Amino acid sequence: MELENIIYPGFNKTLSELNALSKVKKKSCEIVDLTEIEWVRDVLRHRVEEIGSYDIKFRKPTKEEIQTVSKIVGADIDMDELKNNFHKNKRIIGITSGKGGVGKSTITSLLGIAFDELGKKVGIMDSDIWGYSVPKILGAKFPPIPFNERIFPSRINNLNVISMDYFVKQDEAVIWRGPMLHKAIEQFLFEVLWHDIAILLIDMPPGTGDVSISLSQFLKYFENIVVTTPQTNATIVAERSGIMSKKVNASIIGVIENMSYMESEGNKIYPFGKDGGKELSKKLDVPFIGEIPLLEDITVSSEGSNLFAFKESSEFQNILSIANEILKFQPKKKPIDLKIN
Ligand code: ADP
Repeated sequence: MELENIIYPGFNKTLSELNALSKVKKKSCEIVDLTEIEWVRDVLRHRVEEIGSYDIKFRKPTKEEIQTVSKIVGADIDMDELKNNFHKNKRIIGITSGKGGVGKSTITSLLGIAFDELGKKVGIMDSDIWGYSVPKILGAKFPPIPFNERIFPSRINNLNVISMDYFVKQDEAVIWRGPMLHKAIEQFLFEVLWHDIAILLIDMPPGTGDVSISLSQFLKYFENIVVTTPQTNATIVAERSGIMSKKVNASIIGVIENMSYMESEGNKIYPFGKDGGKELSKKLDVPFIGEIPLLEDITVSSEGSNLFAFKESSEFQNILSIANEILKFQPKKKPIDLKIN
């Protein structure tokens, strides 16, 4: 491994691709300090040390260098152009539910892992302001990195993740009302460098409200998946979020039922009732995409900030099948026409 092949954190490109390595001598090197963030410097120092013992210097970038790198990483795209074309070449899928605690963030993360396994480039936007948990479930090690008024999402294995977790202090969440949330959604969509992403999964806050409306105002087109548990009360509130999707003219791909059953000594037990998800899909007149049982492997791996470990479980095949079903769904490319009564 050579110094020029070191990956610059966040940029996901090598030092040589970014022209960020200057003055390499036998025992010293100079790196362009593109982020001016201490932990990024630390990671780079560590990566250099792995290659050899160098005296490392960091130098502030010039304006020209920032512009050149912006071009290389696509951070120089005109905002209007970006906004107009954002929905093109990618599927934007909101994961919604009526109630909290039905497993929406878990399913968003599992689907992210599954789509990645199926060779799709995935972005996850965790917009659940009251229950943001995707970075924790997946085991994020590094926060997103700001660069030239744009943001590189946090990379967790192959997944690109942005979350309220990085921007909101725990005790501030309650004061985030409509306008702030609206602004945050806009920044998450357009200031984050989501380049080359084929699927953007959005973990929505539970309920029907503000985020759906914001999305429908910012995007010409998006899709939704409704997550529910089998209980009647969960399906009734999930139905409202399904109805909301229809009101903002987002296509509903279908319903996923979570925590459908448990298995004990070869027998299925239905602690939360049966078939609520199927009934909901009939009511909303959308496909039933699949059911996910209550599995200890899911709880343990997500509580341990390592949901990726669930890939080793035989049950992961079910998640891959669900992801494949979603890929089969042909979105109706209908522009959004906002009608809220
Ligand atoms: P939500 O995003 O809807 O609020 P979460 O995804 O945070 O819900 O899930 C709530 C809790 O349920 C978490 O502790 C999660 O690990 C657990 N959980 C979710 N789905 C499953 C499942 N299929 N099997 C076992 N535990 C699950």
